[in-house]
Amino acid sequence: MAALCRGRHRWKRINILNVFTRSLTGKFDYDLLVIGGGSGGLSCSKEAAQLGQKVAVLDYVEPSAKGTKWGLGGTCVNVGCIPKKLMHQAALLGTAVKDAKKYGWQISETVSHDWATMAEAIQNHVRSLNWGHRVQLQDKKVKYLNLKGSLVDEHTVRGLTKAGKGTILTAKNIVIATGGRPNYPTNIPGAMEHGITSDDIFWLKKSPGKTLVVGASYVALECAGFLTGIGLDTTVMVRSIALRGFDRQMAGLVTDYMEAYGTSFAWKSIPKRVEKLSSGALQVTWTDTQTGREHKDTYDSVLWAVGRAPETKTLGLDKLGVELNEESGKIVVGADESTSVPNIYAFGDIGEGRPELTPTAVKAGKLLARRLAGQSTEVMNYDNVPTTVFTPLEYGCVGLSEEEAETRHGKDGIEVYHAFYKPLEFTVAERDAGQCYIKVVCERGGDQKILGLHFTGPNAGEVTQGFSMGLQCGATYSHLLQTVGIHPSCAEEVVKINITKRSGLDPTVTGC
Ligand code: FAD
Ligand code: NAP
Repeated sequence: MAALCRGRHRWKRINILNVFTRSLTGKFDYDLLVIGGGSGGLSCSKEAAQLGQKVAVLDYVEPSAKGTKWGLGGTCVNVGCIPKKLMHQAALLGTAVKDAKKYGWQISETVSHDWATMAEAIQNHVRSLNWGHRVQLQDKKVKYLNLKGSLVDEHTVRGLTKAGKGTILTAKNIVIATGGRPNYPTNIPGAMEHGITSDDIFWLKKSPGKTLVVGASYVALECAGFLTGIGLDTTVMVRSIALRGFDRQMAGLVTDYMEAYGTSFAWKSIPKRVEKLSSGALQVTWTDTQTGREHKDTYDSVLWAVGRAPETKTLGLDKLGVELNEESGKIVVGADESTSVPNIYAFGDIGEGRPELTPTAVKAGKLLARRLAGQSTEVMNYDNVPTTVFTPLEYGCVGLSEEEAETRHGKDGIEVYHAFYKPLEFTVAERDAGQCYIKVVCERGGDQKILGLHFTGPNAGEVTQGFSMGLQCGATYSHLLQTVGIHPSCAEEVVKINITKRSGLDPTVTGC
């Protein structure tokens, strides 16, 4: 009630009237209100509507600091997975064109890449997805509201239009799936003024040109990878290690390949300031923490890929006492995606400890909708979630890294099978396959249950997806050996794996 007494008088009147009406009738406007129309929110709202619930989804995009905006569908569709994978594909095609000559294609002219053509085609595809999502919501009878939502109480949401006009909506249950947005560093002069983030890069009309990418995780390496691949001078600035949380050996292979591919790395370096010169170029000053020396270089663009922050600040969570993790700012959730306040649920990137991935948000959303509709009690299983980093040499993995397996089971408690292999398509093209590698981490005793599977090479996402089902089913090393390969493929190298690290034998695969 305290929350209702804040704000403008008009709000107070509407809110009190609304809550009063609800308590008299016990009725709500909706069974379910979902705040956030991204990967998770859309899946949750559509599933709930399919199950006969009356549902509305609020989605509102706050423009980026640079003014970039987009449509319905959230991060993945607009400024994440989809445009990223398509730009990665643009880069892979550049490599394929080089390979093509070796395969007999007569390509007479010097091949060059045009950013504007690529960006326009990708942006048009994204717009078609925005439209597709609207149509799907309509077809499934989910009410789509282009409103910025905040909580009034555990059954009431206030929605604001861009013009600041308010609406009050009530529901039996409220789901928060508002995702996150890229961070800017706060202590680097010129960072925000002159830099862009992943919220902008996919919507640029002109090529970013020579680019400094700051950060060294998924977003940084994937963006640096496609920028290099389309021919741009690209440097990654790494303050500590690349791909924190991933298997260290695999992360090393990914960055080694990128270095050979043409991406520059400024290792153990911390940016100090960004200044715009009269020429329009951006001058970045940084410190190499190994030598303590200061360096400067100029770039056309600086892309900050230094992590993401949850979208919780304007949701009114504090007033309702929804518990947040103090460090991350994310919402503390139970196994059933419940928050500390009854009738309010949260999942996807906003949920503390959840993987920041689209398929987990989509699946968790569907399962939550089924539970809220009383159709199921199944909760999301967040174990063995597979993922792929779409760097020039893709890296797919599922389960534990070698380090994590060692921590949990002890060095003597695990057996690591590994193999370097040469993708057949690399042979004629005379491409170096030095970083194409597979590692299967197993328990050492018993049936040698597989704890983790790691793969660098072409189509790593496709390869890893299939094997992830094996891990979900408790696959063992002997299951892997019983599996017949598909020849000739890269994935077959996984089922042929037989050399243990412990043996010290050469893990290079030769011949068929
Ligand atoms: P989002 O998709 O972020 O959706 C949240 C929505 O809520 C947004 O539309 C937002 O505008 C809206 N919103 C926020 N606040 C409010 C409010 N108050 N009222 C109304 N609406 C609001 N994942 C993968 O699995 N594979 C990939 O290849 C991949 N690539 C990525 C590449 C990049 C560059 C990035 C940044 C992310 C990538 N991800 C990838 C991660 C993936 O995009 C996210 O995990 C996923 O989008 C999370 O879904 P969500 O529903 O939690 O949030
Ligand atoms: P992230 O995983 O949190 O990584 C942030 C990176 O920025 C780290 O390398 C970090 O270095 C560095 N960093 C942080 N602050 C910095 C600073 N002030 N100066 C310099 N470097 C700094 O963030 P992300 O790459 O944005 O990815 C976010 C999430 O999106 C991921 O967890 C992933 O789940 C999802 N995603 C998925 C995919 C995919 O599935 N292919 C692709 C993209 C994104 P330290 O290690 O030193 O902290």
